[in-house]
Order: sequence, then structure tokens, then C-alpha cells
Amino acid sequence: MPETTPFRRVLVKLSGEALAAPDGYWLHPPTLAGIAEDIARTREAGIQLALVVGGGNMIRGARISSAGWIDRATGDSLGMMATVMNSLALETALNAAGVPARTMSAVSMPTICETFARQPALHHLDKGQVIVLAGGTGNPFFTTDTAAVLRAAELRCEAVLKATQVDGVYSADPKTDPSATRYDCLTHDEAIARDLKVMDTAAFALARESRLSIVVGSVHAPSSIRAILTGEAPATRVVP
Ligand code: UDP
Repeated sequence: MPETTPFRRVLVKLSGEALAAPDGYWLHPPTLAGIAEDIARTREAGIQLALVVGGGNMIRGARISSAGWIDRATGDSLGMMATVMNSLALETALNAAGVPARTMSAVSMPTICETFARQPALHHLDKGQVIVLAGGTGNPFFTTDTAAVLRAAELRCEAVLKATQVDGVYSADPKTDPSATRYDCLTHDEAIARDLKVMDTAAFALARESRLSIVVGSVHAPSSIRAILTGEAPATRVVP
């Protein structure tokens, strides 16, 4: 049966940890190559892709500043720069897999990559290029989950795919509660009423207000991004 997808343009949010080595080392070339291959296959399914990459494999501002030697805003600047490093590594892996990709950073670094602006980003997507959106929102006190929802709304994406360690949103933590069940589909309001953590609060509020669907699935299986978006792999859809 041919693969079908309801999606024309999707924003994929990958945590920094998704790029790390199994032993925790901050970048793992075989893992990057696997993600790039998955993105190439997803593109072949006719889906335009914008990617937002986190930086948690290197630095999280809240964690580093909690030790007291650096303030939160500076810690967050380090975190945003970590996302740029991850994005450039992913761009490299994508190009090696034959995918035309370019990094656009919310934090202006003109000698390193293009600065994010909405119209050029839309132009790249329309031309079939994959854009890797670095630097989060460009502001401290936010996360790359919020950046993902913000850019998805700006770039008229039909959904945000949050690629995580588990294959969806569960009624309880499946690692500790064997009776936990996975939701196939629920609304934003149901997720709030059931106190389910889909994304951080700011990101989720923006998704709800923008009536943007969130798809939560596992990044672990091979070709998981393509499989989730074509409906072959399990996932939870959180819809308006
Ligand atoms: N960050 C920020 N503003 C943003 C996005 C990210 O200051 O808009 C910083 C923040 O310190 C955050 C770090 O970058 O902890 C890495 O991003 P995130 O924690 O979202 O990465 P992930 O957990 O997805 O790997």
C-alpha cells in the first residue's frame, strides 16, 4: 500500500539528547546520520520539513545557573549557542545524506549561518529545502519547545512533531506505572484537564492559542519520523 500522509508541512522538534551518543557524549555521528536518513525518507513522502533542535545534550540555562556562578540569562545564552552547534552538525549530516538543508539562527551569527527571517524561511521550504532552526526563540527564559511552536505557527506548519523517548502521551509514566495507557488522540483542553505534560507550559499555551496540532512520538525506531507522519508508527495527536 502506498504511504500516505495528511501533512504537507511539519515542524519537527528534536531534543539535543536525540543527537547524543548512547554513552551520553554530546554528538554521535552515526545517530546524526540515522536522523538525516529518516528526514530524507520523510521528504520523499512529500512533506516539507522545518527542524528545531534543542541543546540539552550540552547546556540547559536553568541547570547551569542553579549552581550560582552564572546568571540565568547568560546560562540561557550558552544554551542557545549549544542549539546552534547541534543545528550545524545536523545540517552537515543532512547534506551528506543528499538533503538540501540550511541552518537559520534566531541569534544573529552572520559569519556562521543565515539569520532567521520568516519570508526567506518560507521561500526555502517552498523550494523543498529543509530548514534547521537554531538559537531557539533568540530570548532567554524560553525553551526550544516554545521555539518549535512559535516557528510552526509563523511558517504555517500543520503540526509540530515532538520526537521524544516514548511513543506518545500516556495516562501515567509508563516507566514506573505498568497500567499506564497511551492516548491516540486528545484535544488541547483534555490534555490540560488531565494534567498531561505534552510540552512545557509556555509552549503548550501557544500551541493551544494558535490551534496547532502536536504529534508526540518516539525518535528511537529507525525511520521513526517518516513512520509517525505517515501513520505507520504509533503516536499521540493533540488537536484543537
Ligand atoms: N534556550 C533559550 N531560549 C530559547 C530556547 C533555548 O534560552 O528560546 C536555552 C535554554 O537555556 C535551554 C537551552 O537553550 O535550556 C537548550 O534548549 P532546550 O532546553 O529546549 O533543549 P532540549 O531540552 O530540547 O534539548
